[in-house]
Parts: sequence; structure tokens; C-alpha cells
Amino acid sequence: MTEAPLDMIVVGGGVAGLSAARHALRAGLRVGLVEAGLHGGLVTNVNELDGDIPGNGAEFASSLVEEVLDGGADCISDSVMAVEPEGTLLQVVMQDKRLLARTVILASGARLRPLGVPGEAQFEGRGVAHCADCDGPMYARQSVVVVGGGDSALQEALVLARFAERVYLVHRREVFRAQPHLQEAVRQHPRITAVLNSQVVSVGGGRQVESVRIRRTDSGTESELACRGLFVYVGLQPASEFVSPLAQRDLQGAIVTDERLRTNLPGLYAAGAVRAGYRGSLREALEEGEAAAREALRSLGLA
Ligand code: NAP
Repeated sequence: MTEAPLDMIVVGGGVAGLSAARHALRAGLRVGLVEAGLHGGLVTNVNELDGDIPGNGAEFASSLVEEVLDGGADCISDSVMAVEPEGTLLQVVMQDKRLLARTVILASGARLRPLGVPGEAQFEGRGVAHCADCDGPMYARQSVVVVGGGDSALQEALVLARFAERVYLVHRREVFRAQPHLQEAVRQHPRITAVLNSQVVSVGGGRQVESVRIRRTDSGTESELACRGLFVYVGLQPASEFVSPLAQRDLQGAIVTDERLRTNLPGLYAAGAVRAGYRGSLREALEEGEAAAREALRSLGLA
């Protein structure tokens, strides 16, 4: 490793990471942005953004990516294997190289959490799917099951209902926790059926998903629900496994920060869905990315 340390490495090219990189570049920092997949993160899968930022998710993300590229970021396509302290610096270990940085912003986001029931992994890509906008048209005039009671489940159920003949929205409680306007839209939709107080306990089929088994949470009775697709939205799993074990985490593995987005390791900040306390909106991801970069600038004596 002969390269001079960078001022900042941003781990993750989703909205929080892009926002952090953009702010640091505007302040004149030398910034590396590491992303293993496509830049833009989960929002690129959302056709119509919901909330105070209107428009299409992919377009929104690509305009941020353009700003960061134009700003001169060193965009590195690689997987981060470790982030660890190295003297007064931080070392970012990737599959193909190692880099040192004076500050690191963790913005590695989160993955959709699996349900963990028999058949779910087996039918991955053969009916078990994750992106309503991308895969919805494949379920035209068929029945699909969506699991979860949060914003993601209801939002994606509404997208799937544009294509599918019937969307069963299976939730383990009596009430959804999603925002009221999503609940109202689901209630009004003629092709969405809420299946409440119920859990999906297994997925069955031949070459493709053909049914899921449902268990009532109140009575324990089980029944079979015929469907061709299963979309699971039961929360997010922070992508933090590569971060030094010295960094404090909560029980879900999210990185703990103070209100200034500082972790317990000097020079290490966290923003967006990898951070404990992130509330999930796009606006918040943008703001946290920028706030973490501002804090990093301050630590470098530049703000
Ligand atoms: P979430 O808010 O954590 O909701 C997860 C849902 O899955 C809950 O209803 C939960 O049930 C259920 N669940 C969890 N584990 C389960 C299990 N093992 N079996 C069955 N059900 C289970 O997750 P999310 O909907 O993905 O949202 C994540 C964050 O992104 C949230 O902050 C959300 O507000 C945000 N988001 C916002 C928008 C938007 O603004 N339009 C869109 C998508 C997501 P309980 O209710 O019983 O806990």
C-alpha cells in the first residue's frame, strides 16, 4: 500500500453515501467512494418515490451519481471486506486493494431481511422476488403474496396490484404499521386482500412457487394460499458485518452513533440505513450523508 491516505472514503454508493461524497467533494476533499454493485442503492428499484421527494428512484439516484462523478470522486467498484483502525488513520480492505483514509463514512445501507421459512431460499428467483417494479409484470393476471405490515410491504403491494389479479397482504398483526395514506390506499384497492393475524410458515411448489402455507397467529390454524409469487418485506438487515468488531452496534447489527453521527471509533461516521436510529426516509438518508460529511470535515479542521 503506497498510495497517500485519502481525506475520506465513503463505503456505499446509495443515497446516503452519494450525499456524503457530494458534500465532501464540494469542500475540496479527496474522496474515494466504494460500491460493489450499482450506484444508487435500493431507491433505484422504486419507480415512483413516495414522500416529499417526487419522481422516479433511478433518475433521482443517477443525478446524484453524476454530481459525484463530476465532482471528481475516485469511484471504486469493489467489495469492502474490512474497515479497521490503523494508527491514527482508518484502513479500508477491499477484495482487490487496501486504502488508508483520514475519515470513513459508513453508508453501506441494509438488505431486505428474509422471512427464514422453509422453501423461501429454494424458490428464490422462481417466484420468490424482491422488486415489485421490476418483477411485477411477470405476475400479470396471477395471485401474489406480500408479507409485512410496514411502508415497504404496503408500497410494494400497491405496485404489484397494478399487474396482479390478486395481492394477498399477509401481516402478523391486526393493524399495519405503515403510514396512514398507504394503509388507506391498500384498504381502497379492489385487488388487495389483507390477511391479518397471519404468518407465512412455508413456501411450496414445483418448478415455481405454487402456494404458501399460512398460520393464524390467534388460533394456530393453518391453510394453503395459492399464489405464483412471494414478496417478503419484513424489515431491513444493516450491512455492517465488515466493520471492525470494535465499532459499537445495536442488537440488529446497526452501527451506533452519537447525534453527530460519530461512531465510537475516531474518524468513523455512519449515515443512513446502516446506522442505529435511522428512520427510513429518503430525505433523512440525504441529510444524514451530508451531516456525516460535515462532521468529518470538522474533524479534519476544515469546517
Ligand atoms: P419495517 O418498518 O421494519 O416493517 C417491517 C414489517 O415486517 C413490520 O410490519 C413487522 O411486523 C413485519 N415483520 C418483521 N419481522 C417479521 C417476521 N419474522 N414475520 C412476519 N412479519 C414480520 O420495514 P420496512 O417496511 O422495510 O421499512 C423500513 C424503513 O424504511 C422504515 O423506516 C420505513 O418507514 C422506511 N420506508 C419508507 C418508505 C416511504 O417513505 N414511502 C417506503 C419504504 C420504506 P410488526 O409490525 O409486527 O413489527
